[in-house]
Amino acid sequence: MFMIIETIPVTTAQDRPALAGPRNVLSLIGNTPLLSFNRIVPERSGVKIYAKAEWANPGGSVKDRPAKSILLEAERSGQMSRDKILVDSTSGNTGIAYAMICAARGYRLKICMPSNVSVERKQILAAYGTEIIYTDPMEGSDGAIRRVREIVQERPELYFYANQYDNPANWQAHYETTAAEIFEQTQGRITHFVAGLGTSGTFVGTSRRLKEFKPPVRCISFQPDSAFHGLEGLKHMASAILPGIYDPAVADEDLTVSTEEAYGMTRRLAREEGLLVGVSSGAAMAAALKVAAGIREGVIVTVFCDSGDKYLSERFWNSSD
Ligand code: PMP
Repeated sequence: MFMIIETIPVTTAQDRPALAGPRNVLSLIGNTPLLSFNRIVPERSGVKIYAKAEWANPGGSVKDRPAKSILLEAERSGQMSRDKILVDSTSGNTGIAYAMICAARGYRLKICMPSNVSVERKQILAAYGTEIIYTDPMEGSDGAIRRVREIVQERPELYFYANQYDNPANWQAHYETTAAEIFEQTQGRITHFVAGLGTSGTFVGTSRRLKEFKPPVRCISFQPDSAFHGLEGLKHMASAILPGIYDPAVADEDLTVSTEEAYGMTRRLAREEGLLVGVSSGAAMAAALKVAAGIREGVIVTVFCDSGDKYLSERFWNSSD
Protein backbone atom coordinates (compact mmCIF):
# COMPACT_ATOMS: atom_id res chain seq x y z
CA MET A 1 0.00 0.00 0.00
CA PHE A 2 1.29 3.45 -0.90
CA MET A 3 1.19 6.71 1.01
CA ILE A 4 -1.08 9.33 -0.52
CA ILE A 5 -0.13 12.99 -0.73
CA GLU A 6 -2.91 15.19 0.55
CA THR A 7 -1.92 18.44 -1.08
CA ILE A 8 0.60 19.74 -3.56
CA PRO A 9 2.44 22.62 -1.90
CA VAL A 10 1.52 26.03 -3.30
CA THR A 11 4.42 28.38 -3.97
CA THR A 12 3.76 31.89 -2.74
CA ALA A 13 5.65 35.12 -3.37
CA GLN A 14 7.33 34.69 0.02
CA ASP A 15 8.71 31.21 -0.53
CA ARG A 16 9.31 31.15 -4.28
CA PRO A 17 12.75 29.87 -5.37
CA ALA A 18 15.40 32.45 -6.23
CA LEU A 19 15.26 33.56 -9.89
CA ALA A 20 18.12 32.21 -11.98
CA GLY A 21 20.33 34.51 -14.07
CA PRO A 22 20.28 34.75 -17.89
CA ARG A 23 19.45 31.46 -19.64
CA ASN A 24 19.57 29.98 -23.11
CA VAL A 25 16.21 28.84 -24.57
CA LEU A 26 17.25 25.16 -24.57
CA SER A 27 17.88 25.29 -20.83
CA LEU A 28 14.22 26.27 -20.29
CA ILE A 29 13.04 22.85 -21.51
CA GLY A 30 11.72 20.48 -18.83
CA ASN A 31 11.07 20.91 -15.10
CA THR A 32 7.40 21.62 -15.83
CA PRO A 33 4.85 22.07 -13.02
CA LEU A 34 2.67 19.21 -11.75
CA LEU A 35 -0.96 20.30 -11.69
CA SER A 36 -3.68 19.33 -9.25
CA PHE A 37 -7.44 19.70 -9.90
CA ASN A 38 -10.25 21.39 -8.02
CA ARG A 39 -13.52 20.16 -9.51
CA ILE A 40 -13.17 17.54 -12.27
CA VAL A 41 -11.60 14.90 -10.05
CA PRO A 42 -14.31 13.40 -7.80
CA GLU A 43 -13.82 14.09 -4.07
CA ARG A 44 -12.39 10.77 -2.91
CA SER A 45 -9.79 10.90 -0.24
CA GLY A 46 -7.85 7.90 -1.51
CA VAL A 47 -7.39 8.79 -5.19
CA LYS A 48 -5.42 11.74 -6.55
CA ILE A 49 -4.87 12.77 -10.16
CA TYR A 50 -2.07 15.10 -11.25
CA ALA A 51 -0.91 16.24 -14.69
CA LYS A 52 2.39 17.56 -16.03
CA ALA A 53 1.82 21.00 -17.59
CA GLU A 54 3.96 20.45 -20.67
CA TRP A 55 2.90 23.68 -22.37
CA ALA A 56 5.26 25.37 -19.88
CA ASN A 57 8.12 24.29 -22.15
CA PRO A 58 9.40 27.23 -24.25
CA GLY A 59 8.11 25.74 -27.54
CA GLY A 60 4.73 25.17 -25.90
CA SER A 61 4.62 21.36 -25.82
CA VAL A 62 6.03 18.09 -24.50
CA LYS A 63 7.87 17.68 -27.82
CA ASP A 64 10.57 20.18 -26.80
CA ARG A 65 12.06 17.37 -24.71
CA PRO A 66 12.62 14.79 -27.50
CA ALA A 67 13.50 17.44 -30.10
CA LYS A 68 16.32 18.72 -27.86
CA SER A 69 17.49 15.20 -27.06
CA ILE A 70 17.43 14.15 -30.76
CA LEU A 71 19.37 17.22 -31.89
CA LEU A 72 21.99 17.13 -29.13
CA GLU A 73 22.55 13.41 -29.72
CA ALA A 74 22.92 14.03 -33.50
CA GLU A 75 25.48 16.76 -32.80
CA ARG A 76 27.37 14.47 -30.43
CA SER A 77 27.45 11.59 -32.94
CA GLY A 78 28.39 13.90 -35.84
CA GLN A 79 25.17 13.23 -37.81
CA MET A 80 24.12 16.90 -37.67
CA SER A 81 26.29 19.81 -38.75
CA ARG A 82 25.77 23.31 -40.18
CA ASP A 83 25.99 22.05 -43.79
CA LYS A 84 23.03 19.72 -43.29
CA ILE A 85 19.28 20.29 -43.14
CA LEU A 86 17.30 18.68 -40.34
CA VAL A 87 14.24 17.02 -41.87
CA ASP A 88 11.35 15.14 -40.28
CA SER A 89 7.61 14.51 -40.44
CA THR A 90 5.35 15.82 -37.67
CA SER A 91 1.75 16.68 -36.98
CA GLY A 92 2.93 20.01 -35.58
CA ASN A 93 4.35 20.09 -32.08
CA THR A 94 7.64 18.36 -32.92
CA GLY A 95 7.98 20.69 -35.90
CA ILE A 96 7.54 23.71 -33.64
CA ALA A 97 10.09 22.29 -31.19
CA TYR A 98 12.61 21.64 -34.00
CA ALA A 99 11.94 25.14 -35.37
CA MET A 100 12.71 26.78 -32.04
CA ILE A 101 15.82 24.68 -31.37
CA CYS A 102 17.19 24.88 -34.93
CA ALA A 103 16.75 28.68 -34.91
CA ALA A 104 18.57 28.88 -31.58
CA ARG A 105 21.46 26.73 -32.84
CA GLY A 106 21.64 28.11 -36.39
CA TYR A 107 20.43 25.08 -38.38
CA ARG A 108 18.20 24.82 -41.46
CA LEU A 109 14.97 22.83 -41.08
CA LYS A 110 12.45 21.16 -43.42
CA ILE A 111 9.16 19.75 -42.09
CA CYS A 112 6.61 17.44 -43.78
CA MET A 113 3.13 17.62 -42.33
CA PRO A 114 -0.49 16.99 -43.35
CA SER A 115 -2.03 20.13 -44.89
CA ASN A 116 -5.00 20.01 -42.51
CA VAL A 117 -3.01 20.78 -39.35
CA SER A 118 -4.44 23.79 -37.56
CA VAL A 119 -3.83 27.26 -38.96
CA GLU A 120 -2.21 28.23 -35.65
CA ARG A 121 0.48 25.56 -36.12
CA LYS A 122 1.21 26.69 -39.66
CA GLN A 123 1.53 30.29 -38.49
CA ILE A 124 3.90 29.44 -35.64
CA LEU A 125 6.16 27.50 -38.03
CA ALA A 126 6.04 30.38 -40.53
CA ALA A 127 7.04 32.76 -37.74
CA TYR A 128 10.18 30.69 -37.09
CA GLY A 129 10.93 30.73 -40.85
CA THR A 130 10.51 26.95 -41.28
CA GLU A 131 10.30 25.35 -44.73
CA ILE A 132 7.10 23.26 -44.77
CA ILE A 133 6.07 20.54 -47.23
CA TYR A 134 2.36 19.81 -46.99
CA THR A 135 1.08 16.27 -47.54
CA ASP A 136 -2.35 14.77 -48.30
CA PRO A 137 -4.66 15.24 -45.27
CA MET A 138 -6.43 11.98 -46.12
CA GLU A 139 -3.15 10.13 -45.46
CA GLY A 140 -2.70 11.74 -42.02
CA SER A 141 0.67 11.60 -40.30
CA ASP A 142 1.58 8.43 -42.25
CA GLY A 143 1.46 10.43 -45.52
CA ALA A 144 3.97 12.86 -44.02
CA ILE A 145 6.21 9.95 -42.97
CA ARG A 146 6.17 8.50 -46.51
CA ARG A 147 7.01 11.91 -48.03
CA VAL A 148 9.97 12.58 -45.74
CA ARG A 149 11.40 9.16 -46.56
CA GLU A 150 11.25 10.01 -50.29
CA ILE A 151 12.96 13.35 -49.72
CA VAL A 152 15.82 11.77 -47.78
CA GLN A 153 16.22 9.00 -50.35
CA GLU A 154 16.64 11.55 -53.16
CA ARG A 155 19.54 13.46 -51.47
CA PRO A 156 20.73 11.54 -48.39
CA GLU A 157 23.95 13.58 -48.09
CA LEU A 158 21.99 16.83 -47.69
CA TYR A 159 19.86 15.83 -44.71
CA PHE A 160 19.89 14.72 -41.13
CA TYR A 161 16.67 12.67 -40.93
CA ALA A 162 15.71 13.14 -37.28
CA ASN A 163 13.08 10.36 -37.54
CA GLN A 164 11.25 10.92 -34.26
CA TYR A 165 9.25 7.70 -34.71
CA ASP A 166 12.32 5.45 -34.74
CA ASN A 167 14.97 7.50 -32.93
CA PRO A 168 15.75 6.18 -29.41
CA ALA A 169 16.76 9.70 -28.32
CA ASN A 170 12.98 10.42 -28.37
CA TRP A 171 12.00 8.02 -25.58
CA GLN A 172 15.32 8.54 -23.82
CA ALA A 173 14.43 12.23 -23.31
CA HIS A 174 11.47 11.12 -21.18
CA TYR A 175 13.50 8.40 -19.48
CA GLU A 176 16.05 11.01 -18.44
CA THR A 177 13.77 13.93 -17.57
CA THR A 178 9.97 13.44 -17.45
CA ALA A 179 10.05 10.32 -15.27
CA ALA A 180 12.56 11.74 -12.79
CA GLU A 181 10.51 14.94 -12.45
CA ILE A 182 7.27 13.00 -11.83
CA PHE A 183 8.91 10.78 -9.25
CA GLU A 184 10.35 13.78 -7.44
CA GLN A 185 7.20 15.91 -7.68
CA THR A 186 5.06 13.15 -6.14
CA GLN A 187 7.76 12.35 -3.57
CA GLY A 188 7.81 8.83 -4.97
CA ARG A 189 4.10 8.32 -4.28
CA ILE A 190 3.00 7.79 -7.88
CA THR A 191 1.11 4.49 -8.31
CA HIS A 192 -0.26 4.88 -11.88
CA PHE A 193 1.13 6.61 -14.96
CA VAL A 194 -1.24 7.36 -17.86
CA ALA A 195 -0.12 8.72 -21.26
CA GLY A 196 -1.34 8.82 -24.86
CA LEU A 197 0.48 7.22 -27.78
CA GLY A 198 1.76 9.32 -30.68
CA THR A 199 5.34 8.40 -31.45
CA SER A 200 4.96 6.66 -28.04
CA GLY A 201 8.14 8.37 -26.77
CA THR A 202 6.42 9.96 -23.76
CA PHE A 203 4.75 6.74 -22.64
CA VAL A 204 7.62 4.33 -23.32
CA GLY A 205 10.45 6.48 -21.91
CA THR A 206 8.63 7.70 -18.82
CA SER A 207 7.21 4.26 -18.00
CA ARG A 208 10.56 2.47 -18.37
CA ARG A 209 12.22 4.78 -15.85
CA LEU A 210 9.28 4.90 -13.44
CA LYS A 211 9.29 1.09 -13.29
CA GLU A 212 12.99 1.18 -12.41
CA PHE A 213 12.35 3.75 -9.66
CA LYS A 214 9.36 1.83 -8.32
CA PRO A 215 8.51 -1.54 -9.94
CA PRO A 216 4.84 -1.72 -8.79
CA VAL A 217 3.90 1.49 -10.70
CA ARG A 218 1.19 0.60 -13.23
CA CYS A 219 1.73 2.17 -16.66
CA ILE A 220 -1.38 2.67 -18.76
CA SER A 221 -1.27 3.86 -22.37
CA PHE A 222 -4.26 5.17 -24.30
CA GLN A 223 -5.02 5.75 -27.96
CA PRO A 224 -7.87 6.95 -30.17
CA ASP A 225 -10.75 4.48 -30.55
CA SER A 226 -10.74 4.60 -34.37
CA ALA A 227 -8.51 5.29 -37.36
CA PHE A 228 -10.32 8.53 -38.17
CA HIS A 229 -10.17 10.65 -35.06
CA GLY A 230 -9.64 14.23 -33.91
CA LEU A 231 -6.99 13.53 -31.29
CA GLU A 232 -4.19 15.65 -32.73
CA GLY A 233 -0.78 14.17 -31.89
CA LEU A 234 -2.09 10.66 -31.10
CA LYS A 235 -2.07 7.51 -33.24
CA HIS A 236 -4.53 4.63 -33.61
CA MET A 237 -1.80 2.00 -33.59
CA ALA A 238 -3.77 -0.83 -35.23
CA SER A 239 -4.21 1.19 -38.42
CA ALA A 240 -1.03 3.32 -38.41
CA ILE A 241 2.61 2.86 -39.43
CA LEU A 242 3.96 1.48 -36.14
CA PRO A 243 6.70 3.69 -34.63
CA GLY A 244 9.97 1.74 -34.27
CA ILE A 245 10.32 2.95 -30.67
CA TYR A 246 6.84 1.68 -29.68
CA ASP A 247 6.98 -1.27 -27.30
CA PRO A 248 3.47 -2.42 -26.33
CA ALA A 249 4.97 -4.70 -23.66
CA VAL A 250 5.75 -1.62 -21.52
CA ALA A 251 2.00 -1.09 -20.93
CA ASP A 252 0.19 -2.90 -18.12
CA GLU A 253 -3.04 -1.81 -19.79
CA ASP A 254 -4.08 0.05 -22.95
CA LEU A 255 -7.26 2.18 -23.01
CA THR A 256 -9.15 3.87 -25.83
CA VAL A 257 -10.62 7.38 -25.77
CA SER A 258 -13.14 8.68 -28.32
CA THR A 259 -12.84 12.06 -29.99
CA GLU A 260 -16.14 13.17 -28.42
CA GLU A 261 -14.99 12.21 -24.91
CA ALA A 262 -11.75 14.15 -25.47
CA TYR A 263 -13.55 17.24 -26.81
CA GLY A 264 -15.98 17.19 -23.89
CA MET A 265 -13.19 16.87 -21.31
CA THR A 266 -11.10 19.57 -23.02
CA ARG A 267 -14.04 21.97 -22.68
CA ARG A 268 -14.55 20.97 -19.04
CA LEU A 269 -10.88 21.55 -18.20
CA ALA A 270 -11.20 25.10 -19.55
CA ARG A 271 -14.54 25.84 -17.88
CA GLU A 272 -14.25 23.98 -14.58
CA GLU A 273 -10.51 24.13 -13.91
CA GLY A 274 -9.35 27.24 -15.79
CA LEU A 275 -6.97 25.08 -17.84
CA LEU A 276 -7.01 25.89 -21.56
CA VAL A 277 -5.39 22.73 -22.85
CA GLY A 278 -5.13 20.84 -26.15
CA VAL A 279 -7.38 17.94 -27.20
CA SER A 280 -4.89 15.21 -26.29
CA SER A 281 -4.82 16.65 -22.75
CA GLY A 282 -8.62 16.31 -22.59
CA ALA A 283 -8.13 12.70 -23.72
CA ALA A 284 -5.46 12.19 -21.04
CA MET A 285 -7.82 13.44 -18.34
CA ALA A 286 -10.61 11.17 -19.63
CA ALA A 287 -8.22 8.19 -19.51
CA ALA A 288 -6.95 9.12 -16.02
CA LEU A 289 -10.55 9.29 -14.75
CA LYS A 290 -11.22 5.81 -16.18
CA VAL A 291 -8.22 4.51 -14.22
CA ALA A 292 -9.39 6.38 -11.09
CA ALA A 293 -12.84 4.77 -11.35
CA GLY A 294 -11.26 1.32 -11.08
CA ILE A 295 -9.13 1.85 -7.95
CA ARG A 296 -9.77 2.61 -4.28
CA GLU A 297 -6.58 4.48 -3.67
CA GLY A 298 -3.58 5.72 -5.60
CA VAL A 299 -1.71 8.64 -7.11
CA ILE A 300 -2.33 8.86 -10.85
CA VAL A 301 -0.08 11.07 -12.98
CA THR A 302 -0.77 11.96 -16.60
CA VAL A 303 0.71 14.36 -19.14
CA PHE A 304 -0.97 17.43 -20.65
CA CYS A 305 1.06 17.70 -23.85
CA ASP A 306 0.16 21.22 -24.97
CA SER A 307 -2.16 24.18 -24.37
CA GLY A 308 -5.40 25.10 -26.13
CA ASP A 309 -3.85 28.02 -28.07
CA LYS A 310 -3.20 25.96 -31.20
CA TYR A 311 -6.76 24.60 -31.28
CA LEU A 312 -8.69 27.85 -30.96
CA SER A 313 -9.91 27.73 -34.56
CA GLU A 314 -11.58 24.35 -33.95
CA ARG A 315 -15.34 24.23 -33.64
CA PHE A 316 -15.72 21.94 -30.66
CA TRP A 317 -15.24 24.80 -28.19
CA ASN A 318 -18.67 26.16 -29.11
CA SER A 319 -20.56 22.92 -28.60
CA SER A 320 -22.35 22.62 -25.27
CA ASP A 321 -22.69 18.83 -24.92
N1 PMP B 1 -0.32 15.03 -27.68
C1 PMP B 1 0.14 15.97 -28.51
C2 PMP B 1 -0.60 17.27 -28.63
C3 PMP B 1 1.30 15.73 -29.28
O1 PMP B 1 1.77 16.66 -30.12
C4 PMP B 1 1.95 14.47 -29.14
C5 PMP B 1 3.18 14.19 -29.96
N2 PMP B 1 2.90 13.55 -31.19
C6 PMP B 1 1.42 13.52 -28.26
C7 PMP B 1 0.29 13.85 -27.55
C8 PMP B 1 2.03 12.15 -28.11
O2 PMP B 1 3.32 12.15 -27.61
P1 PMP B 1 4.37 11.04 -28.06
O3 PMP B 1 4.76 11.35 -29.48
O4 PMP B 1 5.51 11.18 -27.12
O5 PMP B 1 3.70 9.70 -27.99
